[in-house]
Amino acid sequence: MTGIDLDRWEVVIGLEVHAELATRTKLFSAAPNEFGGAPNTHIDPLTLGLPGSLPVLNEHAVELAIRVGLALNCTVQRSVFARKNYFYPDQPKNYQISQYELPINVDGWLELPSGQQVGIERAHLEEDTGKSTHVGGGGRIHEAEYSLVDLNRAGVPLLEIVGRPDLRTGEEARAYVSELRAILVAVGASDGKMEEGSLRVDCNVSVRERGAAELGTRCEIKNINSLRSLGRAIDYEAARQVDLITAGDRVVQQTRHWNEDDGRTHTLRSKEEADDYRYFPDPDLVTLDPDPSWIERVRLALPPLPAARRHRLAETAGVPLEQTALIVERGLDELCLAAVAAGADPARTITHAEHNLSDERARALDPAAFAALVGMEVGGQLTATQAKAVLAELVEQGGDPVAIAAARGYEAMDDAELEGLVDGLIAEHPEEWARFCDGDGKITGFFVGKVMKATQGKADGKAVTALLNSRKG
Ligand code: ADP
Ligand code: MG
Repeated sequence: MTGIDLDRWEVVIGLEVHAELATRTKLFSAAPNEFGGAPNTHIDPLTLGLPGSLPVLNEHAVELAIRVGLALNCTVQRSVFARKNYFYPDQPKNYQISQYELPINVDGWLELPSGQQVGIERAHLEEDTGKSTHVGGGGRIHEAEYSLVDLNRAGVPLLEIVGRPDLRTGEEARAYVSELRAILVAVGASDGKMEEGSLRVDCNVSVRERGAAELGTRCEIKNINSLRSLGRAIDYEAARQVDLITAGDRVVQQTRHWNEDDGRTHTLRSKEEADDYRYFPDPDLVTLDPDPSWIERVRLALPPLPAARRHRLAETAGVPLEQTALIVERGLDELCLAAVAAGADPARTITHAEHNLSDERARALDPAAFAALVGMEVGGQLTATQAKAVLAELVEQGGDPVAIAAARGYEAMDDAELEGLVDGLIAEHPEEWARFCDGDGKITGFFVGKVMKATQGKADGKAVTALLNSRKG
């Protein structure tokens, strides 16, 4: 396997994300929608596919689907539930209810922290399946002695969000999934936990020569459990495809399985002929046609979404959009906006939020205290290092930054005192001083270190360097 020549090849990625919706009950019955539980305890006649049981659509699931559709800038439209016929050992009625020709949400987009827009083809409602556990052999079905079925998850509402093939690198794909997850969590549609399977990513990858008009043949990769695996799987799969093409072979459209342990994708099934699921509208369910006034109410109740929050912060603080991503992800944008409104220097505020406020408790920081601290730093009463220490204490215990600085003995150093100290050091270390005057930049640290030691870290490193330079003559 070789690393691929990105001057020659372009990687094309489109993701299908399944999100379990955070409803109390399943999509078509009153059985609980809860993660875990003893096997086969979250079930009822419908989950078991018993004759005579009929589906009743969960209104809350529809509302959550609409919230996501609107948050993804989709058109919310009239939709129809269809039966997707298939033998599922973990879905006893032997078909999955999904939306096929008419999905509830179509034609949207989301914006990555970089500002790049990624198209959304559709986001439709469907049921989840149960879980099979293959016992014996290597845990794969063909080697197993027997299999167990747990139907707790069967019938849990899913939203399948099909992205357009607009992504070009593993990094972009990961940013897309993070953004989607942030949106799902923000609107309360899902808990977004990849490790519990409430967010599952199938990844389509193809490669083509740069400048080619047509997309290459794609492979779909399943079983990706983390953002890290997503990046690794894409890199592996793109290289595999380029190797095939350069060797004169062709890529065969396939579903492939990502193996975390060996870091490779493996053939699962060929997809060259389209699967025929004999889709037809489910006769037990009526057309879903949400009232426009309901959609409007849902739209008005949406919280501020991550992209809008990033733009607002970038504009208010006058920093590049990219610099706001982590701050919004940590939920510190309101704090920064309030601190800036209280008079804090925007650039300094953003730098602290980005680098020095990873602690979860930072969200509870008092904006006025934060602003006061930034003011002391910008005004020269505190060095950058001291400001960081005071900030850490503010996060831990709250309080007044002036009092904290005083208690730590962080009074600003007197200019004359600092000058005396520097001049004394120059006189004591003539050799080092000569080297400094010869332009040996490495010796600066020697002097700064001595000053810091003498002042117990109270001096401002930048001021010391400036003083040394001014003494060069
Ligand atoms: P399927 O029904 O087999 O899942 P779709 O046409 O619905 O196929 O496409 C599924 C996903 O594949 C979409 O997310 C789309 O962006 C992606 N995709 C389609 N063509 C390509 C391609 N050539 N390379 C990479 N991704 C692709
Ligand atoms: Mg698909």
